[in-house]
Amino acid sequence: MPSFEASLEFAQSQDQTDILFPFRERFHFPQHNGMDVHYFCGNSLGLQPKSVSYLMEKELQDWAAYGVEGHFNAALPWFKYHHFFSERLAKIVGADKDEVVAMNTLTVNLHVLMQSFYQPKGGRYKILMEAGAFPSDQYAMETQVRMHGFDPYDAIIEISPREGEYIIEEDDIIEAIMKAGTSLALVVIGGVNYYTGQFFDLQRITAAAHYVGAYAGFDLAHAIGNIPLKLHDWDIDFACWCSYKYLNSGPGGVGGIYVHERFGNDPQFFRLGGWWGNDENTRFKMQKGFIPQKGAASWQMSNAPVFNMVAHNAALDIFEKAGMKELKAKSDNLTGYLEFLLNQITNLSFEIITPADPARRGAQISMLFAERGREVFDHLANSGIIADWREPNVIRVAPVPLYNTYQDVYRLYEVLSFM
Ligand SMILES: *Cc1c(COP(=O)(O)O)cnc(C)c1O
Repeated sequence: MPSFEASLEFAQSQDQTDILFPFRERFHFPQHNGMDVHYFCGNSLGLQPKSVSYLMEKELQDWAAYGVEGHFNAALPWFKYHHFFSERLAKIVGADKDEVVAMNTLTVNLHVLMQSFYQPKGGRYKILMEAGAFPSDQYAMETQVRMHGFDPYDAIIEISPREGEYIIEEDDIIEAIMKAGTSLALVVIGGVNYYTGQFFDLQRITAAAHYVGAYAGFDLAHAIGNIPLKLHDWDIDFACWCSYKYLNSGPGGVGGIYVHERFGNDPQFFRLGGWWGNDENTRFKMQKGFIPQKGAASWQMSNAPVFNMVAHNAALDIFEKAGMKELKAKSDNLTGYLEFLLNQITNLSFEIITPADPARRGAQISMLFAERGREVFDHLANSGIIADWREPNVIRVAPVPLYNTYQDVYRLYEVLSFM
């Protein structure tokens, strides 16, 4: 247990010895009264890397200079643009480079993957998910089961926190999987719950799903770039994510998928086809017959959205330089410091609903207010502190290790203490 102090001097000394401190220089910060805001919203929309505008300009110049020839002659040829992301993404999610690809956006990818991993047969048609999942995931599951002719109230099993609790007991998830048994087709859970910040034991959930013959897939919107993952070693079947939260790749930025190699390397395993998923050697032969290329890249349909991927490229370079291990180490300490400071506050009444165990959370603390929540949130905003408000009464604060400082966290505490 690190020993923290509620003082500005302590926060400053932590910043001075923080090896990741210089990374904040690589980002643009919104301004408040002529000063950088204290930005705690990196879990909702990450900040813009300063290198994006230069890289975007270069890409525009290649388009102007080459026209269609840019597919092969651009500095980063568009024909194989998605390849430039695989190695760096693979490191971030713990997979082989052939098991990941940057493509589409998150909810689209969830639907695309479900065409492969949700094919109900006989009595096996149920999907298990967490109650209160991100709305987009709820809508996706609801319409998927409807598409196959099932009633969502019957086909979707939702796991809730126990009475009076906020986080979901993993034992309850495992028990429900066992109980569903051969009726269960698929488990789909958000790796980190967006509301509470709870990080689930993906390996344990996957093992249970496999035990009853179901697939396990995860929405990693709030996990990627936040918590080091080992998707391959944990034997996860599939996953998808967006890149505009912790990954700082811009609004509507390109998403990505992971598919375990046992499916990616099996050309018989069903996936919806498109020319970009086809074998690259025959892609331009315009022949009949979809021949999936190797790996997750075979789930691609359209050619790469190059301009959308420029920011992703810039952002992944920063992650490569910082390192997920170093980021998680700082993240644990910084989030721990925030938690320590919040626990000193006596003038406001709120409860922290994020797990206290650093292994079960990332860079996030969710505060549940009994009263005055909205007023507190507005006061923070007026003080140049950008947090996130979730109806009906939660303030989420994400101290992101790439660009947040101990002094940011201290300032938040100071403003709250003097309300
Ligand atoms: C942010 C988020 C989304 C957003 O989906 P898009 O398709 O990228 O708009 C979906 N699911 C979860 C869990 C999220 O956190």
